[in-house]
Amino acid sequence: MIEIDGSQGEGGGQIVRSSLALSLLTGRPFSIRNVRAGRAKPGLMRQHLTAVNAAARIGNACVTGAEVGSTEISFEPNPIVAGEYHFSIATAGSVTLVLQTVLPALMIQDQPSKIVLSGGTHNMMAPPFDFLQRSYLPQLAKMGPQVDLKLDSYGFYPAGGGQFTAMIIPTQSLAPLALTERGKLLKKRIRAIVSSLPGSIAKREIERVQSKLSWSQAKTEIVQAPNPRGPGNILFAELEHEHTTSVFSGFGKRGVSSEQVADNVVKQVRKYLKHDAPIGPHLADQLMLPMAIAARFHGSESCFRTGPLTMHSKTHIDIIQRFMEVRIACTQKFEESTNAETLLVEVKP
Ligand code: ATP
Repeated sequence: MIEIDGSQGEGGGQIVRSSLALSLLTGRPFSIRNVRAGRAKPGLMRQHLTAVNAAARIGNACVTGAEVGSTEISFEPNPIVAGEYHFSIATAGSVTLVLQTVLPALMIQDQPSKIVLSGGTHNMMAPPFDFLQRSYLPQLAKMGPQVDLKLDSYGFYPAGGGQFTAMIIPTQSLAPLALTERGKLLKKRIRAIVSSLPGSIAKREIERVQSKLSWSQAKTEIVQAPNPRGPGNILFAELEHEHTTSVFSGFGKRGVSSEQVADNVVKQVRKYLKHDAPIGPHLADQLMLPMAIAARFHGSESCFRTGPLTMHSKTHIDIIQRFMEVRIACTQKFEESTNAETLLVEVKP
């Protein structure tokens, strides 16, 4: 039994989700104490509990402590069963994070899977649906698995009620991936989604990004969520390069102006453009696991170049190495062309 201290590093929900994913992949049981001790409200919240239950379903696992508020859990998996599943979070909790918990194991099975996920599709502090679809999954597809997403309805906090379907065509062997350069810039896009809110909000956000970044040529789009369950607003700025698509996002909130939402997104884009590494901070922590699977099960070496590592990424590296014998080496390099430091992350058997 691998014993994990949930207060280490980031001390958040990712320790739980990564441990579940890694346990399903390796068949190794684990326990966590101090679950989410680094958060204001420690213990499992509904979205983490849904991730635990989803992992338990696909891996026929024996679980203790699977309750809201629980600060200790244990998980003992059996062989994975691919197939059709529906996982639902009663609150607006993020279901993209639930998908990321079960996907690593399902993407290397013999049979395809179809997963329906209901809850929040566009949440703060989680990958928005569009990030998975445009940034994360295209990189995964280069390694072999094909995952097609279909958004059935938008789910924003606090109303929730969103839903999407993931069709997973697995691969028998994950190919290695090397993402060290962005390649040519192909497209810039700005997209704003509003749910039960006036389109003028989206228009102001887009205009602000265009003017602050001098992106007058960018492709723009305003989306009014059909059949809205409640109010919500998200703004995306996207940079499509030859080898990677970076998706930056910001959420509208009561008391925050459209211009402030746009300025937050502009700040993220400017930060990314200060160096020339292809992988942004969120994709960095999310790519480590598929690369580690390729190293552990298929003996291959993968790498990517990114900016400074977030605490999430550092914590993720620790958790991966508790479950798998892989080496994750980080080398800092000064790039003269941009006058900035970048980090080469290599994942090796
Ligand atoms: P907690 O509730 O304990 O804060 P959590 O379950 O919400 O935890 P985190 O531990 O904060 O989860 O992990 C959130 C995950 O969502 C990380 O993988 C992070 O990279 C990703 N993420 C957060 N914001 C974005 C974003 N804007 N775009 C893409 N991914 C994101």
